[in-house]
Amino acid sequence: MIRQRDTYIYCTSCKTKLLQEDGYKQCPKCDKQYFFNARPTISLLLTNSKNEVLLTKRAREPFKDWWDLPGGFVEEGETLEQAVERELKEETNLTVTDLKYLGSIPKTTISTVKLSQS
Ligand SMILES: [Zn+2]
Repeated sequence: MIRQRDTYIYCTSCKTKLLQEDGYKQCPKCDKQYFFNARPTISLLLTNSKNEVLLTKRAREPFKDWWDLPGGFVEEGETLEQAVERELKEETNLTVTDLKYLGSIPKTTISTVKLSQS
């Protein structure tokens, strides 16, 4: 797995090679610090009265045409709940009224699955 921190080698301001510090990188010349924080995303497990799960087909790469749960990135200033509502509306034009938090997982694996080709 390629991590974002591994792709930052040189300072974007002065082009000096960055030093790895404890949890971040730092430019020894201009002292600019680089933190590599997680990019929060949400996924929605939406079921109907028959316990069928709503899947969406990805429109773009990566994994174009693969089946996925509705979801996406949390935007700046949004709560997780607002992100769920926005992504579901954008992707399915549905609205959700009764949200239940199921849990969180670290982004270390690919969670998109390909059920069939079309
Ligand atoms: Zn620098």
